[in-house]
Amino acid sequence: MNNRIYNFSAGPCTLPLEVLEEAQAELVDYKGAGMSLIEMSHRGKDFMDVYDETISLTRSIFNVPDDFSVLFLQGGATLQFSMVPMNLLNEGKRAAYVDSGHWARSAITDAESYGDVYVAWDGKDNNYSRMPKTDEIELKDNTTYLHITSNETIGGVRFHEWPEVEVPIVSDMSSDYMSRPIRWKNFGLVYGGVQKNLGPAGLAIVFIRDTLLRDINRNQGKYLRYDIHAEKNSMFNTPPVFPIYIVGKVLKWMSKIGGIHVIERVAEEKARLLYFAIDESNGYYQCPVQKDCRSIMNVVFRLPTPALENEFVKQASLEGLANLKGHRSVGGCRASIYNAMPRDGVETLAAFMDIFQANNPI
Ligand SMILES: *Cc1c(COP(=O)(O)O)cnc(C)c1O
Repeated sequence: MNNRIYNFSAGPCTLPLEVLEEAQAELVDYKGAGMSLIEMSHRGKDFMDVYDETISLTRSIFNVPDDFSVLFLQGGATLQFSMVPMNLLNEGKRAAYVDSGHWARSAITDAESYGDVYVAWDGKDNNYSRMPKTDEIELKDNTTYLHITSNETIGGVRFHEWPEVEVPIVSDMSSDYMSRPIRWKNFGLVYGGVQKNLGPAGLAIVFIRDTLLRDINRNQGKYLRYDIHAEKNSMFNTPPVFPIYIVGKVLKWMSKIGGIHVIERVAEEKARLLYFAIDESNGYYQCPVQKDCRSIMNVVFRLPTPALENEFVKQASLEGLANLKGHRSVGGCRASIYNAMPRDGVETLAAFMDIFQANNPI
């Protein structure tokens, strides 16, 4: 018996129940060691086994090419907003950014502290309701990378297809990490905090192409240098042992249910159920995002009035459908349906939407 509810939180978010139960069972005495994994040396055999397995699962599930290093870092995706330009944006170069909404703007603001940064496509003109096509992105000379946000967690907008450009793409994939396969040839660096799809907060996974490591800026504190983390296999200092341990379990769960292609198909089906409920509501529910750019992780929608939105969130919560309030900066409602959200939860929400509409006509 358990009394878990359907948690639509945008992050930290719901994790697979079997992962939590397994961690619970192992917590006090890890495999007969007489202590938990989070009390042991991070260089001892028990942790190193978990660590190596987590890296190797990351590589295999996500199909990471051999010429990319996998880094496990702290500081969330937010530290990467600084680390990317600190390492990659050298003197005389500039960096292009797609401004697709809240998280892109956070990345741009931080990058501006470190060098010459410009907006290569501005979503403001469309009220952040879509992503650009490749031919709308305007790159200038001497651009060293193009930064994109694969999925805007707050706006509910995603790149359905990633751009095809001459420069390496750097992508924040925090909120669609491992929900879809990556076409690696487009990318130089991919990063994301794990707390949206893969585990607890406290860990960011960074993939960096080895050719980019050659020219990085070495004139900064060691923790901030990608090349040092790559050389030390992310064991430069004590890594965040608990998140790494849980991510390892989540990856095993992903692989058990069929891997990245199955995960993607299931995610698309879950999203389709909710967008169908929205689109078939005769305008009662409205999604502000252009159809071909709708996120399959964060489904945002409005009701006819803010008062009805409040009522919706309140009543849903009483039905065990929690955390459906939109981000405070945009209002409305948002259902985050990451990998661990069961299809059942999404079906229950879609049914609740129909009932709510019938009970609360305009
Ligand atoms: C949540 C989120 C962030 C911030 O992540 P932290 O790990 O809290 O730093 C950045 N970008 C995107 C797209 C996000 O969804």
